[in-house]
Amino acid sequence: MSTYRTSGLVLRTYDFSEADRVIVLFTRERGKVRGIAKGVRRSRSRLAASLGWLSFSELQLYGRETRELMLITQGQLENAFPGLKTDLTALGQAARMCELVDGLTPERQPLPEIFNLLLAALQLLETGVQPSLAGTWFEAGFLNQLGYRPDLQACQLCQCESEAMAYQAETGGVVCRACRPSGGVSISPGARRLLERLLRFPADKMQRLHLHPKLQSEITALLEAALHYQLGRKLKSDIFCQAVAKLEGVKN
Ligand SMILES: [Zn+2]
Repeated sequence: MSTYRTSGLVLRTYDFSEADRVIVLFTRERGKVRGIAKGVRRSRSRLAASLGWLSFSELQLYGRETRELMLITQGQLENAFPGLKTDLTALGQAARMCELVDGLTPERQPLPEIFNLLLAALQLLETGVQPSLAGTWFEAGFLNQLGYRPDLQACQLCQCESEAMAYQAETGGVVCRACRPSGGVSISPGARRLLERLLRFPADKMQRLHLHPKLQSEITALLEAALHYQLGRKLKSDIFCQAVAKLEGVKN
C-alpha cells in the first residue's frame, strides 16, 4: 500500500453506492487514475468540493498501485473553472476535451504534456477565448501528443504533392485525388498550412489568434475525423454541443 499526493483534474464521476462515488482523474504524475471517494455523496462530505466534474485539485490517494481503484483521502480545490461554466458553448468544449482524454489515454501512464495541454485549454475557455478556437487548438495538440499527428505534406499512397488533397484517417494523413478512395475530408492547401501552424501555436498567444471561418471548419472536420477514427465511436458530448449550437442559432 502507498500514499501519494498529486494534482488532478476530474474528467468524469459516477455513483458507486449510496454514499460513495468513483472519480476518474487525470493527474500530473500518473496520468489517468480512477479513485473512490467514500461518503462524498453525503451532504457533510468535506471532499465533495474538490471532486466535482472539472475540479482541479491537490489530492491525496491511498492504495495498491496495481488495484483498479485508489482511495481518495484528501482534496484541496485549486480551480473549478467557474467562468467557463457560465458559457454553455465553452462548457460543451470542456466536456468534449474531458471525454477525449478519458477515452484515448491509458490508465496510470504519466502524460505530463497532455496534462498541461488540457489545463491550458481549460484556462483559455475560462479567460474567454472563442470556445471553438480553444477546442481546435486543444484537439490538434492532443492528436500530436498521442502520436497521431496527421501527415499533411504529401499523398500517403503515392507521395505526390498535389494541391487537391483529402484527409483519410486510415492512412494517417492526406491522399491525392487520383489515389483517394471513397470518403475522406477535403482539405485545402491553406487549411493544411494553418493546421501545421496551429500544432505549434503557443497558448499565451491564443487571445490574439483569429482563424478564417472556412479554414477553421475544414480543420475542425479533419480533427473530428481523426479523433473519431482513434476513438472508434462518436463522442457523447457532441450531442450536448450540437444542442447548444442549435440554441445559440435560435438566439442570434
Ligand atoms: Zn496519391
